[in-house]
Amino acid sequence: MTVAKTGAEHIASLRDGRTVYIDGALVEDVTTHPAFKNAIQSSAALYDYQARPENIEMMTFMPEGSNRRVNRAWQMPKSYEEMVTRRRALQAWSRVHYGFMGRSPDHVASALIGQRMGIEVFRKHGPQRAKALEDYVDYATKSDLFLTYVIINPQAERAKNWGDQVSDLVARIVDEDSTGITIRGAKMLGTSSIMANEILVANLQPLKQGEEDLAFSCALPMSAKGIRVLSRKSYEASAVSVFDNPLSSRFDENDALVYFDDVKVPWDRLFVYRDTDVCRQQFHETWGHSYQNYQAQIRLSVKIRFLAGLARKLTEAIGTTNIPSVSEKLGYMAAQASMVEAMLSGMEASGTKAGEYWVPNKHFMYSAQVLTQDLYPQFVNAIRELSGGALIMLPSSIKDFGDPMINKIIQTTQRAANLEPADKVKFLKACWDAVGSEFGSRHQQYEMFYAGARFVTAGHSFRTFDWNNATSMVENLMASYSLENEMNGLKH
Ligand SMILES: Cc1cc2nc3c(=O)[nH]c(=O)nc-3n(C[C@H](O)[C@H](O)[C@H](O)COP(=O)(O)OP(=O)(O)OC[C@H]3O[C@@H](n4cnc5c(N)ncnc54)[C@H](O)[C@@H]3O)c2cc1C
Repeated sequence: MTVAKTGAEHIASLRDGRTVYIDGALVEDVTTHPAFKNAIQSSAALYDYQARPENIEMMTFMPEGSNRRVNRAWQMPKSYEEMVTRRRALQAWSRVHYGFMGRSPDHVASALIGQRMGIEVFRKHGPQRAKALEDYVDYATKSDLFLTYVIINPQAERAKNWGDQVSDLVARIVDEDSTGITIRGAKMLGTSSIMANEILVANLQPLKQGEEDLAFSCALPMSAKGIRVLSRKSYEASAVSVFDNPLSSRFDENDALVYFDDVKVPWDRLFVYRDTDVCRQQFHETWGHSYQNYQAQIRLSVKIRFLAGLARKLTEAIGTTNIPSVSEKLGYMAAQASMVEAMLSGMEASGTKAGEYWVPNKHFMYSAQVLTQDLYPQFVNAIRELSGGALIMLPSSIKDFGDPMINKIIQTTQRAANLEPADKVKFLKACWDAVGSEFGSRHQQYEMFYAGARFVTAGHSFRTFDWNNATSMVENLMASYSLENEMNGLKH
């Protein structure tokens, strides 16, 4: 047995008979299918990265009672220093995919350790549900599982309650017996579900009394009987070469509607059972929501830095870096990229102790989420503005280089002060893949919505801000003068 999980081990674990559909057909083996195989190789590269002797200490730790090291995403920090050590590991992992794999294995691991830190919520709900969660987090940690989650209901008729949607649309409990419950219906959007080992199924959106059938949370292997994964269009499948599509050909983590077709959930995999309040508490009264979204900001810090690098190199490729308005724009982007990192540092440094654990500053985390929802499209737009037609005036594909006449024209027309023509084309194609391709466009949608629409994230910010601290200063000012006093002063 290797010292930590490897890529080969991860790939082998995905040949488990899971039910994935794409383009009207059942996928026999996700690890070899042209729609998924490169993304799966990229997820495997994460495990190979952590298992390398030079990375093992930075990337992994030994859980108590285990004989094998696992990724630091599973580590529950007990101090500020441990939190920073863990974050450095997560940033190093993100650099492997330049921040483009939003649901890399550290995302749901972060959610679960945060929930485990708040085990009291589950104990109040019931000792068996608390034991199920404790045992599951222990198992997932020691196995270094790749988990994804579906915690959002399919966007259907938004003006209706979840419980009033047509039957079999939103996943709900339809039966139960001495061995567990049975669920039927859908959840969205199982990002990475084609390449995860297991899936956490829960309900983050508010539920009303009477919607108890929808109020459950559980974890299931992706191969559980009845789980049907309906993949969206694969960008990887149409990425004709790595040279033409260096990101979409390798980091298309996939998103899917997940349909639970009478799936049996054993009691020891059930964490919330028919309780609409505990569904919300599972995320918001534990540290689950904080840790999952703190991880998302860690990943984003890497992606924004990468995009800032693209912007700078783009201006070098077209020779505009030193035009004052261009360097001003780059300076603004640099400030935005650094703000993401500074907010991360702020979340950590002004974190607090919750029991024995160190947890990030909740309001700083929500502020970062709200601000970066806007920042990402601004960043993408800034790169487009800096580029002009450069991202379009490109050979149709790598095949153009194979024709001597076309190649000669490419060599004449793709000019840059600091790049050979082929290198210029290579770089500009990477830029387009990041910000303009269908893959790049999906990333904009992801960064704007993965944690909820604006009204949801701003609502969290509204609730967690220290309003008293702000309004008391205003009250102090108001108390420092009055109409009466001033009128009296005028009389004398
Ligand atoms: C690329 C991508 C990947 C994702 N991956 C996952 C995943 O892995 N797991 C998972 O669980 N989820 C995932 N999601 C789902 C994501 O969490 C949801 O998209 C998000 O929570 C928003 O919910 P919604 O799509 O239903 O949009 P809605 O909440 O319906 O919002 C859409 C828009 O409708 C309007 N609106 C709707 N309701 C209101 C209201 N009450 N007040 C004001 N305005 C309103 C607003 O304009 C809003 O911007 C993913 C989403 C995307 C785009």
